[in-house]
Amino acid sequence: MAIDLVTRAQWGAHAPRGSYGRLTSTRGVKVHYTGGHVDLAILGDHSRCIAAVRGIQNGHMDGNGWIDIGYSAVVCPHRKVFEGRGLHHLPAANGPGLNSDHYAVLGLVGTSGVVMPTPNMLHGIRDAIEWLRAEGGAGAEIKGHRDGYSTDCPGEPLYAWVQAGAPRPATTTPPVEPPEEEEVPEVVSLGLEDEVVVPSARDYQPWWTAEYRDSAGWHPAGGQSIAPDADVWADLVAFVALRGLTPGEAVEIGFTRHLAEGTLVDVAWPTGRLMTVHADADGRVEANLGGHLKLSAANRGRVTIRHSSANTVTLEVASAFKGILHCYA
Ligand SMILES: [Zn+2]
Ligand SMILES: [Zn+2]
Repeated sequence: MAIDLVTRAQWGAHAPRGSYGRLTSTRGVKVHYTGGHVDLAILGDHSRCIAAVRGIQNGHMDGNGWIDIGYSAVVCPHRKVFEGRGLHHLPAANGPGLNSDHYAVLGLVGTSGVVMPTPNMLHGIRDAIEWLRAEGGAGAEIKGHRDGYSTDCPGEPLYAWVQAGAPRPATTTPPVEPPEEEEVPEVVSLGLEDEVVVPSARDYQPWWTAEYRDSAGWHPAGGQSIAPDADVWADLVAFVALRGLTPGEAVEIGFTRHLAEGTLVDVAWPTGRLMTVHADADGRVEANLGGHLKLSAANRGRVTIRHSSANTVTLEVASAFKGILHCYA
């Protein structure tokens, strides 16, 4: 699939307030995240991505006093690549003295809200990298902003992906031949009927009490798990909303695999460990989770939440758990 480029005119960019430094070539590309709150609503509404990119440009020009948005390109959860400063132009986002070595590509994820890149965002970042290589003279390096500069950017999930070589996710490429007719992808959608208190200082896996769709019966009634009766690759998405934390307090969340009786098998892609998210000023955590797990009746998928707060921490009704499951032979 070719790059799905959103030109500056298409996203309504302001003209730069000056001329860019010229780049003939770079050593490669550095990947960034916003470091702030990214509204979960952008996942279902691409027009909000456009507004977010315009907001970033305004912040860079009016707040930072830069001539333009600092990034070479910005990638949203829908695999759209927004042209930032673009090809052969010096970015501003990598840190003083570092901008001539690497193009700067931002993924629209943050420290709350959208905290996990979607598979399509990873494809889009990869598309941007390949575009910068083919037409912008970018070299082979793929690094995170934190490489050579003191910052958390690009956050744990994106950095783990960068360190793994920024591979394209397997999710849109079936691992084997197309599924046969009786093996079309299944969808399981789960949620909570009521809020629940999340106990402190242990791993907690929600019991999914509401079932919106489960045509194959892969969610045992009232259970914690997705337990397919066949081996499948599962693209899982969950939204977790917690309240009651002390501002800044850390919560760990992620997809995990378990044996039928509950023993942990492993923690899902991309990091191999739970992701840390910090409560906002209101003591809330709202985060998305994404994962690509091989599931079966024996290896079941759950969501795990871990906190050590002394407060009463509540998992809200809004939480949901969706999986698109691809059969493999
Ligand atoms: Zn950065
Ligand atoms: Zn989008």
